[in-house]
Amino acid sequence: MPDPPPRHAGRIVDPSVADEDDDESVSIEQMSEEPPEAAAEPTSQAPEPSEYPDAPPLRPRTLPPLPSSEVLLDPREAPPPIPTPTRRPGSTSVLSPTMTAVFGALFGLAGLFGIFALLHRFAPHPTPETATAAASTSNRPDMSAARPVASAVQRSLPNLEEEDGPGLPGPWRISTLASDDSVRIVSGTVGLEAFVNVMQDKAKISKKETYRILTAFKGFDVFKRLRKSDRYTVAVDKASGRIKAFELEVSPFEVYQAKEDESGLLTAARLDMKVGDRRRSTGVRITGGPLADDLRAAHLRDSVVTVIDAAFDGRASVASMPKNSTLRVIVREKTALGRFASYEYVEALEYVSSKPDTKPLRLYRFQDGGRFGYFDQQGREPYRGGWRRPCPGAPVTSPFNPKRMHPVLHVIKPHEGTDFGAPMGTPVHATSYGTVQWVGPRGPAGNLVIIEHPGKIESYYMHLSRFADGLSKDDKVETFQVIGYVGSTGRSTGPHLHFGIKKNGVWIDPMSLKLDGDRLVSASLRGEFEKVRAQLDAQLDAIPLPEPVAEEAPPAAAASAVPEGEESDEPPGGSTPAPPAEATHPAGGSVDSAEDDELEPEGFRDPRDRPDLAPRR
Ligand SMILES: [Zn+2]
Repeated sequence: MPDPPPRHAGRIVDPSVADEDDDESVSIEQMSEEPPEAAAEPTSQAPEPSEYPDAPPLRPRTLPPLPSSEVLLDPREAPPPIPTPTRRPGSTSVLSPTMTAVFGALFGLAGLFGIFALLHRFAPHPTPETATAAASTSNRPDMSAARPVASAVQRSLPNLEEEDGPGLPGPWRISTLASDDSVRIVSGTVGLEAFVNVMQDKAKISKKETYRILTAFKGFDVFKRLRKSDRYTVAVDKASGRIKAFELEVSPFEVYQAKEDESGLLTAARLDMKVGDRRRSTGVRITGGPLADDLRAAHLRDSVVTVIDAAFDGRASVASMPKNSTLRVIVREKTALGRFASYEYVEALEYVSSKPDTKPLRLYRFQDGGRFGYFDQQGREPYRGGWRRPCPGAPVTSPFNPKRMHPVLHVIKPHEGTDFGAPMGTPVHATSYGTVQWVGPRGPAGNLVIIEHPGKIESYYMHLSRFADGLSKDDKVETFQVIGYVGSTGRSTGPHLHFGIKKNGVWIDPMSLKLDGDRLVSASLRGEFEKVRAQLDAQLDAIPLPEPVAEEAPPAAAASAVPEGEESDEPPGGSTPAPPAEATHPAGGSVDSAEDDELEPEGFRDPRDRPDLAPRR
């Protein structure tokens, strides 16, 4: 079995957003009897009138209510923002051009001074090797040198290195030998080559000496799992070529050292870096300037993006936050010798987008089922199991409905799949890994791909505009591999994907596979989740947010954002906006109205509940 491919972040869309259907309720059996040539002509046919112009929208999927699920997310409920102490008060006030120039020059000078001070701080060693290493260290966390002086006028950013202070006294390090003229210090990354070769080629150390290192580290398994980014530093006696000391830095909190003792023996140890853990609660304002600056103003380093995006889990991403959006973050930092080493994880966060149509989001780290996940206010977590949505973010425009009754003819004409509305050319992904059974046109299905999955499940992707390059029968495809592109070939009235699933040769509701969607906190843990959430909510509420930044243009442009799928030339009614989440089930309902239970059959909440349907585990 192939390894699971990397997870792809996808926008989670309420699958209940259903539009009315076009007419293509033809089973594969019927289609396969038609000659393939038939596929060429239907595209030129005039679109058939919709069968169900008055099909009511589905009731949005409702989640079982959690106790006291009221969360005050209105930003107006938040405590008044307190200016962050490190931000100069009045920095946003209007200054006369002359004053601006004067202050600009002053702060510019101050900024330059700061940079020189930093460079001085980071480059104290005379040895060329260590100087290079120091320069690369100073380049990584501090980017002020690259920033134009002008931005220093607008706001003073905290120096996170200085903020940490001198840190705790640590163990003896090779760097203290830098002033010793009798030793040569070399450092670099391990890279992909064999360690012995690296030592020989890069550090000019004899094989014999390298074996002394390896012998010293016998019993440590770190050399068996060397990563190319691991950093070595070696001190060699210039006269004899003997190694005085060696260090291997896997991370700021995992450092190994071998040091020559009085008897000339190299003895190895893992250094005690006094690894610690601290919590930071901070507010970020997206200013539209460099993201790194927005984060730094909140005392965060760039690398925090990784842990925040991990918490979002596809629901949003730091990089795509519009100007004036805000983040409240409670994040755990790992420290080594009392100084920042890395971000561990986000405990809770709040994201309030400046776009009025984006709902505020709060996420809480919580352990359920033996692992941690990020659950929202309603206790939901994005779920991406073995079955992926073929077009992430595309709304369901017509659900599976085996009992669909033709409103005029009064005959049962089932809809044997799920339609996803998406613009022409949208990539279509394999719902899971499997073997391609069919690539090509097939009657009313248009350009069709069929994939066979374990468990006697087949997936069908119809009306494609084209196939993925080189895709052919008997190809093995990975979960979420692109297999084609949305189109309107075959019997179709507009660009969309008809996605069908057969189990044991019978059409089943594709949504019963529980495609990407949400998972709820386990019922038995809801009380505990609510407790954790209440605690974290109070802590999030207490985080002050930076002041909003001025908008240059009226927010008209922001409001004109069109939901995805709107461009598709769906039949009339297909372009009506998605019903609000509070919408109730339409009263009455024609015979063909879909039943919610078909979208969310009981016991199908999680594919792991149905091992026969889950291709993995
Ligand atoms: Zn369909």
